[in-house]
Amino acid sequence: MDLNNYNQIVSRANDVQKMWQKVPAPKRGEVIRSFGNKLREHKSELATLITKDARKIISEAEGEVQEAIDMCDFATGLSRQLYGLTMPSERPNHRLQELWHPLGTVGCITAFNFPMAVFAWNFCLAAVCGNSTIWKPSPHANSCAHAMKKIWDEISGDFNDLCIILEGGKDEAVALCQDRKIHLISATGSCQMGKELAPIVGARMGKTLFELGGNNAGIVCPSADIDLAIKAITFSAAGTSGQRCTSMRRLFVHEDIFETCIEKLKDSFDNLVIGDPNNPSTQLGPLISENSFKEMQLSLSNAKDDGALVIGGERLDIESPSDFYVKPAICIVDQIIEEMREETFAPILYIKKYKTLDEAINYQNDVNQGLSSAIFTNDVRESEFFLSAEGSDCGIANVNIGTSGAEIGGAFGGEKDTGGGRESGSDAWKAYMRRVTATVNFGSDLPLAQGVEFNDE
Ligand code: NAD
Repeated sequence: MDLNNYNQIVSRANDVQKMWQKVPAPKRGEVIRSFGNKLREHKSELATLITKDARKIISEAEGEVQEAIDMCDFATGLSRQLYGLTMPSERPNHRLQELWHPLGTVGCITAFNFPMAVFAWNFCLAAVCGNSTIWKPSPHANSCAHAMKKIWDEISGDFNDLCIILEGGKDEAVALCQDRKIHLISATGSCQMGKELAPIVGARMGKTLFELGGNNAGIVCPSADIDLAIKAITFSAAGTSGQRCTSMRRLFVHEDIFETCIEKLKDSFDNLVIGDPNNPSTQLGPLISENSFKEMQLSLSNAKDDGALVIGGERLDIESPSDFYVKPAICIVDQIIEEMREETFAPILYIKKYKTLDEAINYQNDVNQGLSSAIFTNDVRESEFFLSAEGSDCGIANVNIGTSGAEIGGAFGGEKDTGGGRESGSDAWKAYMRRVTATVNFGSDLPLAQGVEFNDE
């Protein structure tokens, strides 16, 4: 790593933030509005780059750019809503109020599979909250990052350096984590990456926002609309070639409908159109790399050794020989097997039968990750139980929708090894600000809280 370059980047990001925080928040929102408008103009070329870097199909790539645009709109509105509460003071002639201030510079480490949207989740909120961002993109997606930065540069005037790209891999990510001049580390990627970075930031008591791996499950109940469920499961499990953090990896199906669901899912997987992601009729593009393919094959071979019935999963001989296209795999298991406990970033769906909803929810929750979950049911008691504190332990819980494809309006993120962070909508902005509790005495006496007397006469 070029340390000189690194230090210059951090110092520029710190300096520009000091000017930016003086700009009133609604004016910062105006700049983010212009950014969103420029993204709208360039939507199609940006989507093409996502397809090139992340190998997503064009419709999903366009959806990802749209997500970045939606974040700009959301953040623009938010720039007038960074509300602090005013609480009643127990003391006469006192005002008790929360103030929210920017943190400073955000180090934003992103994964390959959402090369623009995750940046937008972070940058748009960080910017309206008054922060600068140093963005370390995935080495797979540097061209996506530079395209976003170019658009930012076109509209940002004196504030170009509010977003600076730091290309690189592990060394650069570690440098940001060690650096006290980086006031929030927002890192998206595998649980392993999070586990390596958390202690580094923790050692300096730094703030973190982790968006890590998932191991998402669906439950299909006897009352479910099975055709709707099959469609949703196919998109969640096979769509994006299983390369979403929210991809469905495990499925628990009630014993009464198990055989029917398996047959319908096999048909649905057989009918998927797999091929060049640039072709509008394609539903699944290739895996990101040969390494991903190898990891997928290793998982399937381990699953077979543990007694799973594996259907699909083989490499398909289409398009360029350097691309790794695969048939999504279904693995039917009688018991929970080790492979079901970890996230393999590829289209593998483990399916197991269940008898009672309690049993299915226990299976679902009994993994270290806690990102997304889904239940398919037309029984309100089942869906409400699933959403209750005794139900899904994930950050995202869906009813009659698959595990993937969240909207920006909600807070996005998960529990346990998924990292606990929340990004995007709702009040996720609070992670990018520091809270000051301010008490003002506008009287001439000095009453103490809790009735404490300190009589110095
Ligand atoms: P990855 O962990 O390999 O890389 C993510 C980022 O971290 C990259 O910028 C990479 O350079 C860096 N990195 C990787 N290992 C590192 C290490 N040991 N130390 C420091 N930095 C490191 O992940 P990926 O393959 O790019 O993306 C797939 C993973 O990301 C999956 O696990 C997926 O679930 C997760 N993901 C999570 C979310 C979420 O919001 N929860 C969103 C997208 C992806």
